[in-house]
Amino acid sequence: MDSSPHASARALEVLNRTFGYPAFRGHQSAIIGHVEAGNDALVLMPTGGGKSLCYQIPALVRNGVGIVVSPLIALMQDQVDALLELGISAAFLNSSQSLDEANATERQVRAGEIKLLYVAPERVLTERFLSLLESLDAKDQLGLFAIDEAHCVSQWGHDFRADYLQLAVLAERFPSVPRVALTATADALTRTEMRERLRLTEAREFCASFDRPNIHYTIAERTDDKKQLKKFLQNHQDESGIVYCLSRKKVDATAEWLCAAGFPALAYHAGMSADERRDNQSRFLREDGIIMVATIAFGMGIDKPDVRFVAHLDLPKSVESYYQETGRAGRDGDAAQAWMLYGLSDVVQQARFIDGSEANEEFKRAARIKLDSLLGLCETTACRRGRLLSYFGEAVTAETCGNCDNCETPPEQWDATEACRMALSAIYRTGQRYGAAYIIDVIRGATNENVRNRGHASLPVFGIGKATPERTWRNVLRQLITHGWVEVDVQAFGALRLTDAARPVLRGETPVMLRVERMEEPAAKSGKFTKAATAKRSGAPAPDLSPTQQRVFDALKAWRLDAARANRLPAYVILHDRVLVEIAETQPTTLTELHGISGIGQAKIDRYGSAIVACVRAMAG
Ligand code: ADP
Ligand code: ZN
Repeated sequence: MDSSPHASARALEVLNRTFGYPAFRGHQSAIIGHVEAGNDALVLMPTGGGKSLCYQIPALVRNGVGIVVSPLIALMQDQVDALLELGISAAFLNSSQSLDEANATERQVRAGEIKLLYVAPERVLTERFLSLLESLDAKDQLGLFAIDEAHCVSQWGHDFRADYLQLAVLAERFPSVPRVALTATADALTRTEMRERLRLTEAREFCASFDRPNIHYTIAERTDDKKQLKKFLQNHQDESGIVYCLSRKKVDATAEWLCAAGFPALAYHAGMSADERRDNQSRFLREDGIIMVATIAFGMGIDKPDVRFVAHLDLPKSVESYYQETGRAGRDGDAAQAWMLYGLSDVVQQARFIDGSEANEEFKRAARIKLDSLLGLCETTACRRGRLLSYFGEAVTAETCGNCDNCETPPEQWDATEACRMALSAIYRTGQRYGAAYIIDVIRGATNENVRNRGHASLPVFGIGKATPERTWRNVLRQLITHGWVEVDVQAFGALRLTDAARPVLRGETPVMLRVERMEEPAAKSGKFTKAATAKRSGAPAPDLSPTQQRVFDALKAWRLDAARANRLPAYVILHDRVLVEIAETQPTTLTELHGISGIGQAKIDRYGSAIVACVRAMAG
């Protein structure tokens, strides 16, 4: 079976009329054309890349119903609501429903009234459901299978679902129905597993760049995390975001002081009751401007499109985790911030964590390499985005992205060769038995009791680095660990020890250049719609609103909140922020004019058109 390289005219019409978008993005047109024609596809696209349309539109264009297999039961209701809002007949089947509800949905499917059906994998595999599918197939009423979050077949990943392994049965029982597997996970191993386990060996692969151009990256040294976070958040008032912490305790403490400081923060971690978690998650999804302070238990399935920032107060486990966690920001394509603090204590803590774990040597080695790559990303003086993408094996053409801290304010470097020698020497002379804080005391000539009692005040290295501030020394030690010249001895309570690789540095034969840590991280180019980020997407809103436009925008937001409450829907399901911005800018006063706005389809016009136009007339007139 051959496919056209483009989506059909009918598919384009669905995009325009139903979804209200003027054009396809990236590979969408090719994928849709391919699947429409009945072929299998493997779709690899970053979060926010627009994967959903790749199966929704072919399902709408083809005969019968499209079956969407998804592990994210908690999201199905919202996904279906969003489709119903667009005037698409959609439904779901999962364990959260009563038997009556499920039966009613099955009846509708049998009667051919449903175009998109979301189903949990365990449900798909029941004999009852498979025979429903068979009866549809016999009538040529089975349009396609979409397997969302397809990386769940990977036994090496965090999101492994045993049920996914059995989805190969779909290939056996319904060989003529096209299947499209989708994921935002990039690595080669997972890709191979997906092909094999889902029997998609012949499927055409569509792989997009994993760049997220609208995400701005900042990684700064931790000096005073409360103060730093507060300052960061002050530039993001009224925006929804996630603050990740490593431990449950820190999540609770951070949420508490944020609330005390007047920020609308909620907590989320695995130690909370299921009810509490559900409530907090639902508030985060439905209300505007909530800050979710969470461990990584708050993860997959957060597909709120307007998360404006993801802040890390602690280092994630690896570059992959960093990419995935920061990727939850800015799904809607508007400017978003990935902001992270890190410091010496993270490096020591993570090293301890790895070495102290029960895992075997091979696993520990892999974990150390992963940590080093992440630290490399933190310490780099080059473009963060470039570093991130090349880690995933993507060829990077531009040297600077213009949308990360290093590109905006290139970091200065200083010659730390001598300082490294001093620090290594202090570790060595004190017997390689002490942690970082004590080593710094000795170098800086602190005359506390410990130093005196141990006789270290008479060492030649004592006070040798008095003139250099403590934070610089912390930086030096961190870099010594990062470079593998010093290791942290877990058995000895975090004592620092020289490795063999340290010799040339100790002898001054290896020059060391370090980045000058900034006292203040450069003010992130805040603002909700910065030019640099949004200009990269077609149809993106301009950065600044005039006072009148702002008035219209505020009025539209207030109207949307009412509409969301009245319909019991998250605000973004009614209309995305960027759509409101475009309305505020162009101020359409007739329904025809409103039609020209990206994201306004026929159903939105029918439902909300007159209210929106009235809103514009009242504020702009
Ligand atoms: P993914 O599932 O890949 O994370 P989504 O399918 O949720 O991404 O799409 C992300 C956002 O981009 C959604 O708000 C979606 O409506 C929007 N979008 C997708 N395709 C287009 C397009 N061709 N034009 C405009 N907006 C689009
Ligand atoms: Zn950059």
